[in-house]
Amino acid sequence: MTKRFPFPKHFDDFFYQEILVPLGWKDYDIKEELPEDIQVRPYYWGDCTCGWDDQILDFDQDHHEDCYQIKLVALREQFKGEEYDKHRDNLCKEMNLDKKYGSEVHCTCDYNQRWEKWFEYHKLGEEGCSDDCPTVLPNFYFKPLDLKIYWYKYPMRGVESNKKVTREMLIQISDYVADFKEKQ
Ligand SMILES: [Zn+2]
Ligand SMILES: [Zn+2]
Repeated sequence: MTKRFPFPKHFDDFFYQEILVPLGWKDYDIKEELPEDIQVRPYYWGDCTCGWDDQILDFDQDHHEDCYQIKLVALREQFKGEEYDKHRDNLCKEMNLDKKYGSEVHCTCDYNQRWEKWFEYHKLGEEGCSDDCPTVLPNFYFKPLDLKIYWYKYPMRGVESNKKVTREMLIQISDYVADFKEKQ
């Protein structure tokens, strides 16, 4: 999986007011013509269209029978509420695991390695989905910096980028936008 960086909160206003709004962002989309180095897409609410989501089902492997995960599932079937908590904490102790952090997700087998190997071999694009699947296309793209920005549902919510965003980068983009608007 490609690494993503959280978008610095204190840049939210600048990005929205100095870049998205001047480009014509309104009612969650842009109807105006965009400069050639910028792409903007609203959040995609639909399903994967490249087939990756179905292909994942082919990875029909499970945790090893000795894995904490399998033992935990057995406990979950057997006990409820506090009783379950108590048995889970004991299981953590038995297996030398932290009961405070990750007690629902600990894995003591090679499941993740198997998954990663499978993923690397089968993936259609960096994120699993092919790079043109609407689920992985960035919501904002600035070509000169190869900067991809993603948001969750609406701009400036759960925003992430493919590289660390700096002040200089944002100024470069807003200057480019201002330039484009002037020439229009
Ligand atoms: Zn897809
Ligand atoms: Zn496991």
